[in-house]
Amino acid sequence: MEDRSTVPYYPSPKRGADGPTPGYWALKAKQTHFWPRGHRLRLTAGKLLHELGKLRLVREPGIRIWKETLTGDDFYYTVSSRISNITALLAQCVGVVVEPCHSCKHNLGMFSSCVIIPGLRHLIPCCANCYFNGLGDRCSFHQHGFPEITHPENQNGQGEASQTQDSSVKSTHEQIEERREMLLQLNEQLELAVEERDKSEIAVKDAEVGLLTARVALQENNAKIDKVLISKETLLSDWEQEMA
Ligand SMILES: [Zn+2]
Ligand SMILES: [Zn+2]
Repeated sequence: MEDRSTVPYYPSPKRGADGPTPGYWALKAKQTHFWPRGHRLRLTAGKLLHELGKLRLVREPGIRIWKETLTGDDFYYTVSSRISNITALLAQCVGVVVEPCHSCKHNLGMFSSCVIIPGLRHLIPCCANCYFNGLGDRCSFHQHGFPEITHPENQNGQGEASQTQDSSVKSTHEQIEERREMLLQLNEQLELAVEERDKSEIAVKDAEVGLLTARVALQENNAKIDKVLISKETLLSDWEQEMA
């Protein structure tokens, strides 16, 4: 039988630079039922997780390249172990990439880029990377405030298209937006299909465990029968000898 511990269950997070479109972990970051912790916070208006959930996913988070041994399973358990990590992951997927804070500059933290949420500074005054593992206090933005945002197109739901754009540029922009929406929908469909696949995988694994348990029980029972038979044989031959 295959050793279950060697079969990875979750896909590995992207290493290195962020992905330009939301992928597996960005979509998961937004799913309430995927993360048992923080469930109530997600449903409560005004709470950070809830407010982050209203923002559009804009990237697939890249993790630092030196975390090469981190598997998808490791990543899931590390993130799911703390509400701050679940929150940081979602923030990383919806926020704005900025010039790195002091810690990010030194390659600290899980993620490759330094991301802030300009509209939610009152709830998360540090970058998402420093928020991971509850280390927000170490972020240089925490003391000195957020940096200037140099790429307004990078913003989530805050920077509107420039007023001076002519209509042809605007329609191209709309086309891009439409395609992005379609891509997001396809991603969601893919996500559902993957989830169904995951469910059947779990069913197979459970059935394998059930079979193994039944086999062990059968072997134990066979051993018991052997033992009783031997005792019986011994008793009978002793008896025969005594009678002789
Ligand atoms: Zn940072
Ligand atoms: Zn920081």
